[in-house]
Amino acid sequence: MPNEILRKYPLEPLVRREFLKRASLATLLWGASPRAAFAQAAAPGSLLIQGGLIVTSERQFLADIRARVGKIEQIGPNLRPLPSGEEQVVDARGMLVLPGGIDPHTHLPGGADDLASGSETARAGGITTIGAMTFPRRGETVADAVSRISSLIAQQAMVDIMVQPGLIEFADSAPRHLADLFAAGHTSMKVLMMFPGFDQRGMDYLNLIRSAGEAGAITLIHCEDHPIVTDTTDALMAAGRTSARYWAESRPVLAEVVSVQRAIALCEHTGAPIYVVHLSSARALDACREARARGLPVYVETRPTYLHLTEDLYAGADPGLYIASPPLRTAQDVEAMWRGLTDGDIDTLGSDHSALMRDEKTKPDLTLKTLRPGFSNLEVMFPMLHSEGVVGGRISLERFVALTSTRPARLFGLFPTKGTIAVGSDADLALWNPTQRRRVRAADLHSRCDWSPYEGREVTGWPQMTIRRGEIVYDRGQITAQAGSGLLLTRGRTQG
Ligand SMILES: [Zn+2]
Repeated sequence: MPNEILRKYPLEPLVRREFLKRASLATLLWGASPRAAFAQAAAPGSLLIQGGLIVTSERQFLADIRARVGKIEQIGPNLRPLPSGEEQVVDARGMLVLPGGIDPHTHLPGGADDLASGSETARAGGITTIGAMTFPRRGETVADAVSRISSLIAQQAMVDIMVQPGLIEFADSAPRHLADLFAAGHTSMKVLMMFPGFDQRGMDYLNLIRSAGEAGAITLIHCEDHPIVTDTTDALMAAGRTSARYWAESRPVLAEVVSVQRAIALCEHTGAPIYVVHLSSARALDACREARARGLPVYVETRPTYLHLTEDLYAGADPGLYIASPPLRTAQDVEAMWRGLTDGDIDTLGSDHSALMRDEKTKPDLTLKTLRPGFSNLEVMFPMLHSEGVVGGRISLERFVALTSTRPARLFGLFPTKGTIAVGSDADLALWNPTQRRRVRAADLHSRCDWSPYEGREVTGWPQMTIRRGEIVYDRGQITAQAGSGLLLTRGRTQG
């Protein structure tokens, strides 16, 4: 079976024969439970990964990697283990060795997951860095919110975390606090056009986006037009169409398109880079493509649900489960998202991980105004992209690495510390078995969420081992890291 998958797998001619030979060994090496040799708990001074296929956003090659004190120290053929015997050695023959995954967009802590369970589910999905959307609670400033999350990171995190400071309401103190946060290396912020405050304080938001750009920070924008969504929702509610069944109708593509166009105009007017979060429709993607063709710094994230699910689910048995903003769209929109991933018009995937339980999402008295948007997505996001994208013949391995690591690292000011495999970079690595087949079952995932939108899907290619700054933090189902060992990252300027 592995060979049948690998026959059409996008390997470079130069490595193909040797990788196939090694792949037949991989089942023997990695099929069983973790071996003691791989999973010594003590943090190693030095780690040697031998014989894997290293893939970056630019190329693939067979080589060994030595990591010391958290960094990649050496890359080359036939590296020998250090004579002292203190070095941990991982036999990665038949494995892909990829830069650790980066998910810029999670709502962690949130729902059933704290940063500990969130970290576990990230690592099992080959992810070593996540972005945590950080919004002030009532009475907090955005700076307070960032300090609250910082202390949680110190206690719970096992992956590295970038905070994404966000505003739901515009507070008069926000520009000053955000300027301090940008200067302290938190070089992004999130704003939402779906809330009435954006229209009420339009001038303030324009100035804020401009200041962010001047400070080297990128502005994440949730693009749905508040007046159009409210008007459509009110009309449906008045007609007695209040349930989850009408979700897609209540938030039409038009609301996304006009909001994306406005975000692009703000980018063009101020010169500041913008990052459209969870873009969902073909028409909105067309608007971004046109802006990019004119050289504007407009960047696009999509959410995995828009690659794997359609709005037909709202006519099914449990429409409440599939509530998210924007809503699921048509099969044509799904195709457009895949084309965007292939052509480079989409830069990143963000899980938007929100661990809302089945009961919370399906209470019968919920209406279009009270339904709970969000999915648990984090662990399966990149395996499903690999399965449908790489094995499915839509994207190359190099493109897979660009989407899952290099592009987010650049846009969020982490490159080349993260986002690639190079001497001097952090030793954040994920070892993938590209032929392992497994069905998605919520019960097997490390999130505390009790359901998955992809229950039962067969997925080919899973991370076997995740290494964060030189330390093995996940090994075939076993979590091997201390809570609090993840870092709050400070970052540089956004790079296109
Ligand atoms: Zn979100």
